[in-house]
Amino acid sequence: MERSTIVRVHDGLHARPATRFVRLAKSFESDVEIVKDGKSVSAKSSVKLMLLSVKENQEVTVRADGADAAEAIEALIGYLENPRAGLDEDAETEDQPAAPAAPVPVARPVSDDSTDGRLRGIAASEGASVGPVFAHFPKEIRPQPHTLPAHAIPAEIERLHAAVSLVRKRMADALADATLAESDRAIVAALMDIAGDEALIDQAERWIGQGMDAVSAVIGATDATAAEFSAVEDGYLAARTDDINAVGRQIALALLGEEEADLSTVPEGAVLVADDIGAWDLARAPLGRIGGIVCGKGGATSHIAIIARSHGIPAVLGLGEAVKDLASAKEIAIDGAAGWVAAEPDDAVRAEILRLTGDALRERAALAEFRDAVPRRGDGTVIEVAANLGSLEEIDPAKAAGAMGVGLFRTELLFMRHAHLPSEDLQAETYATLAKAFAPWSVIIRTLDIGGDKPVAGIEFPDEENPFLGWRGIRMCLDRPDIFKTQLRALLRAAVHGNVKVMLPMVAEIAEVERTKVLIAECEAELAEAGVPTGRFELGVMIETPAAVLIAPQLARHVAFFSIGTNDLTQYVMAADRLHPAVAHLNDVTNPAVMAAIAMTARAATDAGIMVGMCGEAAGRADLIPEFVRLGLTELSMSPSSILRAKKTITELVPETPAD
Ligand code: PEP
Ligand code: MG
Repeated sequence: MERSTIVRVHDGLHARPATRFVRLAKSFESDVEIVKDGKSVSAKSSVKLMLLSVKENQEVTVRADGADAAEAIEALIGYLENPRAGLDEDAETEDQPAAPAAPVPVARPVSDDSTDGRLRGIAASEGASVGPVFAHFPKEIRPQPHTLPAHAIPAEIERLHAAVSLVRKRMADALADATLAESDRAIVAALMDIAGDEALIDQAERWIGQGMDAVSAVIGATDATAAEFSAVEDGYLAARTDDINAVGRQIALALLGEEEADLSTVPEGAVLVADDIGAWDLARAPLGRIGGIVCGKGGATSHIAIIARSHGIPAVLGLGEAVKDLASAKEIAIDGAAGWVAAEPDDAVRAEILRLTGDALRERAALAEFRDAVPRRGDGTVIEVAANLGSLEEIDPAKAAGAMGVGLFRTELLFMRHAHLPSEDLQAETYATLAKAFAPWSVIIRTLDIGGDKPVAGIEFPDEENPFLGWRGIRMCLDRPDIFKTQLRALLRAAVHGNVKVMLPMVAEIAEVERTKVLIAECEAELAEAGVPTGRFELGVMIETPAAVLIAPQLARHVAFFSIGTNDLTQYVMAADRLHPAVAHLNDVTNPAVMAAIAMTARAATDAGIMVGMCGEAAGRADLIPEFVRLGLTELSMSPSSILRAKKTITELVPETPAD
């Protein structure tokens, strides 16, 4: 029995809608298949279903065979024809993403300097410490096929099922733990679905049936599925390969009776040494106990660097193969500001670390008095020292650090951590919470700045040769008014609080601002018609492309403010990838070319009488702040950890009027 229909599920059978569809299919006894373009897969396998990549408005056929076939078809077709299927069944348990994407101020090229026994890498997070080494190099599990005798096969299949049950039980226990963050909950639930996926387990069973051992079979089955996922031209699906491999690894370890190398046992003050650490593993590690992080991989703006900085953990990254030599050391000294590490530190190195940590403690104590300071330049103008944030959880630490508002709220993190696009209500509530928390200071909310290098469920990105030069930021938003207008409506709603400003990323042309204004007007009219209260917000742009710098005098006539994004501006002016350790020396904001671009922007803004600020990481550099203030910048937005030092620097500036 079969029936065809056009899929109306919003954004197709992606992520959560796919999982719900499979759950519904599994509630029927009948075998159920879904067919698209002549290809059929079991409707009871979320993995296979995701691979079929069923999109909104595509035609599919549901086929069922069994006692309850008619009911199954009725229910599944009904699901496919419901645009909100899978999205509105649960109360939305949207959480806020964890860490702000705060790039580091100084990146140094990797080099080893054998003359003083220190290894030099990328200075990713400041701070110094000496601690015992905690080496984290998870064991590689390789399939080692050998043929099982026929009589051993049934027992091996049972072993497989026992291992799958064990892994799923551990995941269920994790889900039952009330302290599990909502963002982690969604990930564990997705992994649990994969671990119970019929197609995967059937494949592994078939291979065991042919005489393969269970470890090889499960690794083979997950590898093959992961390869299929990464072959699909869909950034979201490609990113799911990690989940599939992680599940295969968990089951294989359970079969081997081994435990995963676990960061939960890191001793107090230990320096974590690894080739790479998944952001999720690190975010869930006992960060308060970690004394330092040293990695072979990772760049100045990698997740590890961001998490380390937001938790004040010294980190040196990008050491390459040399990191393996550190794994067997007993102790390591690390200076995250200068970017060096030394194994088995001698007395001189220990004394240096002691001096550095003493200095840092004294500095922190001395800075505390600047928490409530309102720094002004010579002519009395307030210089706002604001925070760069990515989630609501960061509000309290930012306020405790003395933030005078928010100079950059990176909304993309709200989009990246969910299985579907955040709704207008969720966004409006998030932006309003932010505005209320910092009133009367302003909060500058940046519209979605997402590119082909970061997958977001619900937005399909083409594969791009150069994602940093591609379809990102305002370019993508203008092409997807459905997504952009949802965000703009949410911003208009949050603007009733009076202190919301909105900023567009990656602007290269005045037309992008004009087109955005048209959309804002449409949104205002739609909300007015629906009787929804809205407020007005100032619209500004980030200055982070050379094009924006070169047209800054004209651009200034169309916007209320500029915010200089030095992270991207530096990479585009210098044509040096901000993530690439080999060109880190070019990625230097103090290069005269970049400083000239900053000065041109400041001049254009002050001439036009609009506010100019900075939200790139250079804004927090105490050595550059005097120059930025001299150029006329009146707002500097940075990682909360840099705020007190910045306030002190501005407060102590010798009074001087800005450049004229
Ligand atoms: C910048 O480019 O300077 C910036 C602040 O934006 P992001 O780091 O999020 O690209
Ligand atoms: Mg940028």
